[in-house]
Amino acid sequence: MSGRAAIAIDRVSKRFALAGSSEGVLALAELSLAIAPGEFVAILGPSGCGKSTLLRLVAALEQPSSGTVSVDGAPPGQVSANHALGVAFQDHALLPWLSIRDNVALPFRIAGRRPDEAAIARLIDLVGLSRFATARPRQLSGGMRQRASIARALVLEPEVLLLDEPFGALDAVTRRQMNVELQRIWSARQITTLLITHSVDEALFLADRVVVMSGRPGRIVREVAVPFARPRDPAVMRSEEFHRMVDDLTAALENEEPPPS
Ligand code: ADP
Ligand code: MG
Repeated sequence: MSGRAAIAIDRVSKRFALAGSSEGVLALAELSLAIAPGEFVAILGPSGCGKSTLLRLVAALEQPSSGTVSVDGAPPGQVSANHALGVAFQDHALLPWLSIRDNVALPFRIAGRRPDEAAIARLIDLVGLSRFATARPRQLSGGMRQRASIARALVLEPEVLLLDEPFGALDAVTRRQMNVELQRIWSARQITTLLITHSVDEALFLADRVVVMSGRPGRIVREVAVPFARPRDPAVMRSEEFHRMVDDLTAALENEEPPPS
């Protein structure tokens, strides 16, 4: 495998066992999604609709109950075993006893490879943490720690990047800065990326395509190609077309929210 990978999700269903229930929980139902090499796809959907499950299937952390997932035609486990997969999940914590530099270098150790010092330094610089390379995670703000996890996800030059609400815990201003940062990093490498987010703005600012999932069991109910030219300036978020697309996607999402119980 070389270069950027295509992801093919073909009629995937996922059922979890549930104590006291014979049928369990159907998280995903016959979901299909094809992601082109180098494409950035954002996924929106109500809480509990199976978004994380979908990402975990692509990361080979779960197996589908039926249907297939492949990355460049191979089972996802192969990509993960080749360390060609970069993941940053909201709860994907940095190791507190390691410096930022050593946290970013960690994937090399896990892969049994000699750390590429130049690559590590470049990435730490790219996410704006050069001055903090020797600091411990607790000495950094939440936004800085998120940038460090993104650097860690990128350090082995993955072919696929999976981001599960990576900015969910950040305040609005830091989040906006991180969006600009991520766009810059992605533009430099154009890694095939799947981003799960609750923010319609974030999805439209970053992605080539935005996909809305239904309430559980998750299916795709809407897909929109994002027309804004790159590189995108945050000013694009003030354009009329951006607002129109935000309204449209927000309406599609609200349609899928379960009624208040
Ligand atoms: P989302 O990320 O969209 O909020 P998830 O993919 O985390 O949703 O979960 C989808 C559904 O599958 C939820 O009902 C959740 O409780 C269930 N689920 C997820 N993982 C498991 C698991 N390991 N065992 C049992 N149920 C699970
Ligand atoms: Mg989730």
